[in-house]
Amino acid sequence: MTFERIDMAALEKDLTRIRRDLHKHPETAWTEYRTTALIISELEKLGLPVEFGPQIHVPEKMFGMPGEAQMEACYKRALSESDRPDLIEKMKGGFTGCITEIQGALPGPTVGIRVDIDCNDVDEAMEAGHKPYDEGFASLHEHCMHACGHDAHTAIGIGTARILCAYRDKLPGKVILVFQPGEEGLRGAASLTATGRFAECDYFFGAHVGLKNLRVGTVVASSYGFLCSTKFDAIFHGLAAHAGAAPDMGCNAIAAASAAVVNMLAISRHHGGSSRINIGTFHGGTGRNVIPDRAELAIETRGVTGEINDYMEKSAIRVLEGAAAMYGCTVETRFMGSAGSVTCDEDLVDKTVKILSEVDGVDEIIRSADFGGGEDVTTMMRDVQEHGGQVTEMIIGMPLLAPHHNRLFDVDERVIGIGARVFASLALEVSRM
Ligand SMILES: [Zn+2]
Repeated sequence: MTFERIDMAALEKDLTRIRRDLHKHPETAWTEYRTTALIISELEKLGLPVEFGPQIHVPEKMFGMPGEAQMEACYKRALSESDRPDLIEKMKGGFTGCITEIQGALPGPTVGIRVDIDCNDVDEAMEAGHKPYDEGFASLHEHCMHACGHDAHTAIGIGTARILCAYRDKLPGKVILVFQPGEEGLRGAASLTATGRFAECDYFFGAHVGLKNLRVGTVVASSYGFLCSTKFDAIFHGLAAHAGAAPDMGCNAIAAASAAVVNMLAISRHHGGSSRINIGTFHGGTGRNVIPDRAELAIETRGVTGEINDYMEKSAIRVLEGAAAMYGCTVETRFMGSAGSVTCDEDLVDKTVKILSEVDGVDEIIRSADFGGGEDVTTMMRDVQEHGGQVTEMIIGMPLLAPHHNRLFDVDERVIGIGARVFASLALEVSRM
């Protein structure tokens, strides 16, 4: 499709401006206050109704919330950096993200489109040769960086809304456009999904930029190989004691956690398919001459099937408990997030391939590719499928200058216009295929 009613060059320029603004002000899971306020203002300019705040969430399903001090600091930072503190006040407590509906003039299906909006817990490279640094839009927020392209995803979502609003007279049915918080760590999708908001979707589309090292102009119509994943923290409790005078009176939580780390990495792999385990952070102890009474680990397991991920998770917990017992400690685990696998619907993939072949800027279509990671869009996709809808998750190709989640990651901004045209074309055309 070509969108003659829109000055696409001007739209792409403006979406790039928005992406750079988001890149400069990245916000981690459940703190995307300024980001959400910016999205809402953009949607309101289009005259769209926007749902946000506690009404779009189920608090028991808001997994992996940062600690209170961090939540408060991020909230205050967002208030000081946003021109819409009135909106941010309504999201206090981590109720970030928003949903809009674009009602078409023609009868037709309900189409769900999801983009994610959060950043990574990474410090951005501040060095020459890294474009965001060279051009003055590198992150202003310590330990926060858009290193996965969700800034581009957000801009794509806004672009999709702008295009569709210009073509409402040709739009069959309606589009539910979701700006999801907390994708990193697989934390945000469950809360939005639990409201039942996506049950009515007949078709549901997600997309991620990058992932594979592809040319700009290449789009993958569907993904497979989503790894099931569980994220959890383990907290070892020991007994503090004088390290010189009475070491035998203590129980060393760091020793227990250390034993757990090396033995979790040694869990036998499953014969049924690929698996992963990572211990990403390790904190413990209070002072040099004190037997440490506390240690904390941030752990994730992954598996190509739910069964394999369960095996990795159960094995990890067995190791944690064994290691705690070895040193007279106890261990508690806290669930922080998860995602399952999903299979895209072949019927919808057929339609997607056909529609993609007509999208301006798309010159190569790959039917399917290995996603190669976890994505909590699968939580929404499974919900849509359980209610009779069809789903697919695409990949918008671009070359990777650095891997995702790396301090030198950057997006090729041409994917923003392509992504917006892809989503808009799918919403306009899918029911005609
Ligand atoms: Zn991502």
